[in-house]
Amino acid sequence: MEQPDWAAPLGQAYESALAFLTGLPTRPVGASASGLDLQSALGGPLPQTPEDPRRVIETLAAAAEPGLVATPSGRFFGFVIGGSSPAALAADWLTSAWDQNAGLHVLGPAAATVEQVAGDWLAELLGLPADVSVGFVTGVQMANFTALAAARHEMLSRAGWNVEADGLAGAPRLRVLAGAQRHDSIDRALRFLGVGTNAVIPVDVDDQGRMHPAALRAGLREASGPMIVCAQVGNVNTGAIDPVREICEVAHEAGAWVHVDGAFGLWAGASPKLRPLVAGVKLADSWATDAHKWLNVPYDSGLVFCANPEAHRAAMGVRASYLIHGADGERDALDYNPEFSRRARGFPVYAAIRALGRAGVAELVERCCALARRFADRLGDDDRVEVLNDVVLNQVLVRFHAADGDHDGHTRRVVQRVQREGPCWMSGTTWHGQAAMRISVSNWTTDEADVDRSVEAILRCARATADSRRGHELRG
Ligand SMILES: *Cc1c(COP(=O)(O)O)cnc(C)c1O
Repeated sequence: MEQPDWAAPLGQAYESALAFLTGLPTRPVGASASGLDLQSALGGPLPQTPEDPRRVIETLAAAAEPGLVATPSGRFFGFVIGGSSPAALAADWLTSAWDQNAGLHVLGPAAATVEQVAGDWLAELLGLPADVSVGFVTGVQMANFTALAAARHEMLSRAGWNVEADGLAGAPRLRVLAGAQRHDSIDRALRFLGVGTNAVIPVDVDDQGRMHPAALRAGLREASGPMIVCAQVGNVNTGAIDPVREICEVAHEAGAWVHVDGAFGLWAGASPKLRPLVAGVKLADSWATDAHKWLNVPYDSGLVFCANPEAHRAAMGVRASYLIHGADGERDALDYNPEFSRRARGFPVYAAIRALGRAGVAELVERCCALARRFADRLGDDDRVEVLNDVVLNQVLVRFHAADGDHDGHTRRVVQRVQREGPCWMSGTTWHGQAAMRISVSNWTTDEADVDRSVEAILRCARATADSRRGHELRG
């Protein structure tokens, strides 16, 4: 076959990508097209004949454009998203071009090596033990799944049960003690693992969502059999961080495994200033975090670490006669991942860490936290805005007061108006039964000007929402 034309479609993709990225500061943050608009722009009958690849990319980019949410924008504050840094994005393109299967060392020695190197760097950066095993998974959902599979293996094996061979039917009942404000991906992982959500014993938390160690101690005393404790470093609403040191001490005394869901909060460990928030995190048995959130690596990029590599491998590893397994010192990633064939996710993580260095990661995390503080201070200055949480990390919860006392309805309407009118995007939530706007700062490009412009827009939307209600009342 003659050399295919790579340049035309890749050149088109480069142009379209650059147009999108350089347009981020000025484009609306939310999508402008409806599902129906997009269906008519992108749908139609199954194509019957080939189409020129460059044309395909050009039309795809044009049709998708109004349906794109500017999540990599510096003014996207919904959920905890993060964008992509240039080095991470460029490495992600190479990952696709190289198309390595990162499951086995033999299929991608560079991919395997880069994962080992980046994994070691990350353990050091985040303050985890040096000898942890690591898996590069799609996100924290699968990191929680993988870590809890290792925990399930270890705890049942200590109880004399081989869960990998015999399954859970007839096994000693596993108990999972987790904060009442844990992330739903913990329960979902327990569903996938056959442990079941009824195995969870919810542990009382304080008003910020932090687990009470005394409540954990009481829960552990009452429970019996194999136990796993799930701590949380970074509550999705408040950013609050569980007292991990105490949790680890109490849990280990009771012989339990401690897993830490640190999807974004674990990155506090990369900053000398914020590190005290996660003191003792090193003592846990497993950890889950995301590179696609605060490290600003493209999706999909989650990480699982395990202080018990044998348990990690026992839960995930696989041997088959047709596979060629790595020699000594050569790591087969499928021993640490729930996937078989897999994208070489290590390259963008490796590039992101190199481009930032330890100092750059610390600066990024500290800047986002300072900007969250700025949001809280500026919004809190308005006497119709109430800041609901202690801003300890990158999360801010605010509530808008209405003259008629319907603060919930008003707050929801303000969130919707901001989403519609931009120039920023925040999501809504319910905290302690009250509607709130949830602001997450995790993008590498966000600066003070973005925050100030967003604060102005939010206050403008709050006033406009209040005015239009008053108008309704006068008319009605
Ligand atoms: C985002 C998040 C998750 C889920 O992570 P994904 O990467 O979306 O799978 C789990 N726990 C917490 C605390 C999170 O913030």
